[in-house]
Amino acid sequence: MGKPTGFLDYERKAAPGVEPAERVKNFNEFHPPLAMEERRRQGGRCMDCGVPFCQSGVQLFGMFTGCPLHNLTPEWNDLLWRGNIKEALLRLKKTNNFPEFTGRVCPALCEAACTCGLHGDPVTVRENELSIIEAAYEQGLIAPAPPKVRSGKRVAVVGSGPAGLAAADQLNSRGHSVTVFERADRPGGLLTYGIPNMKLEKRFVKRRLDLMAAEGVEFRTGTDVGADLDAKALLREYDAVVLCCGAKRPRDLNLPGREAKGVHFAVDFLTATTKSLLDSNLADKKFISARGKNVVIVGGGDTGNDCVGTAIRQGCKSVLQLEMMPKAPDTRTPDNPWPQWPKVCKTDYGQQESIALLGRDPRLYQTTVKELKADARGNLKAVVTVELEFRVENGRRIIAERPGSEKTLPCELLLIAAGFLGCEPYTASAFGVKLGGRGTVETPIGAYRTNVEKVFSAGDMRRGQSLVVWAIAEGRAAAREVDEYLMGYTTLP
Ligand SMILES: Cc1cc2nc3c(=O)[nH]c(=O)nc-3n(C[C@H](O)[C@H](O)[C@H](O)COP(=O)(O)OP(=O)(O)OC[C@H]3O[C@@H](n4cnc5c(N)ncnc54)[C@H](O)[C@@H]3O)c2cc1C
Ligand code: SF4
Repeated sequence: MGKPTGFLDYERKAAPGVEPAERVKNFNEFHPPLAMEERRRQGGRCMDCGVPFCQSGVQLFGMFTGCPLHNLTPEWNDLLWRGNIKEALLRLKKTNNFPEFTGRVCPALCEAACTCGLHGDPVTVRENELSIIEAAYEQGLIAPAPPKVRSGKRVAVVGSGPAGLAAADQLNSRGHSVTVFERADRPGGLLTYGIPNMKLEKRFVKRRLDLMAAEGVEFRTGTDVGADLDAKALLREYDAVVLCCGAKRPRDLNLPGREAKGVHFAVDFLTATTKSLLDSNLADKKFISARGKNVVIVGGGDTGNDCVGTAIRQGCKSVLQLEMMPKAPDTRTPDNPWPQWPKVCKTDYGQQESIALLGRDPRLYQTTVKELKADARGNLKAVVTVELEFRVENGRRIIAERPGSEKTLPCELLLIAAGFLGCEPYTASAFGVKLGGRGTVETPIGAYRTNVEKVFSAGDMRRGQSLVVWAIAEGRAAAREVDEYLMGYTTLP
């Protein structure tokens, strides 16, 4: 620790966001970085507390806290404070293949567990991580480093989200020849088509993909394994297969009027916008537009928030987010102490933009949709909502509609962001891979091998819809297992 009193001398300072009125004019990222001198001071706030919960990645009372990658945060915070970006990069790369992604979109489980956060404000760990990797790119410290020797083994990775990319990166670094198959026209999984551009500009995804390609990873896009490409052929041609196909099967609504025109799944809405943005800067108009519409989003979570931000940028007339659960408390409750993950109400960027520009928090709590109404031409016109109440009956907690609380709200675009039901099963079934009750690939606890010889699985496809940081952690762990399977031992971390 270079600055023993840093946490006393300096206050937490995060990168300021561009004002909502300005940032909604485009789909760009809106957190210009702090000047390096201030960023170094933020690194100096890390007190090297001795028991770094920030890097623990452990489950406490059912929720994870601390970094799942076990990032060496106190070490690189100190190196950042000292201005030694080269060394900080080495320590960062040791545990995380893609800090430029986590540095932008991670919910920072580390900061929730930071010891400075016990009585004050946590260290800006996520932004410090981002500043190290971006400074490293700027200083030319990141260049293609292909393996010196090839093992002669071939690995197919199916799916190019963060799990597939992490597995490919690790296995390629060991000298195996890796081909990544991707169904979409661009690689990146939800990093490319899912997470909106304003959270993660796609040029940063492309920068990493280009680096991996220069290091020898082959990407085959527009290839749907199990549909366009026979799974048996892949098993014949490759020594191992890693399935990282995500968990994108959305939970649907079973409601009267569901067939109305103007009802879409959230990820389809977000994907179409990003694709049009990348293909033509939105000029082709091949996206689902919220312009001039009353938008209702079913689901109060993060995906719903991304839809709020996107709908506002498209010029919607109004936007509401329906959330079944009651509002979470604004601060930790006594039964949810540090370093547990805080179960508190978070007002994310889209919701902030709605408050600033449309005059209200878009969330309606304890509310759901009951019916969709269309006009004579089948176009969605209104939604009927109903409030929910939570009761305990015969010792069981039940959710019931509050009688007489129905409201009819104008709505021309309804987006379903009600969660995910596991992976799309066709790829797993093409390989004969067994799925469990949650619709995800079954593997032994703590392992990544499936019931089929030489087939492994990682990321959301195995874990269920989760986080980028978990996908990277799973991809790395699966790569280790694959390497051991291929070589009889492994040197991968
Ligand atoms: C809208 C949205 C916003 C999110 N925002 C965040 C965030 O801010 N921070 C965060 O940490 N997490 C976020 N997440 C979660 C995070 O994106 C995922 O947990 C993560 O991307 C999972 O990575 P993955 O590699 O397992 O799968 P994915 O990223 O889903 O990638 C799977 C890939 O496999 C491909 N594929 C599927 N089947 C086949 C096949 N048969 N053949 C070839 N290719 C196939 C798919 O096309 C896809 O590209 C968000 C999720 C969503 C939906
Ligand atoms: S990956 Fe996420 S949890 Fe881990 S150190 Fe970075 S911001 Fe924190």
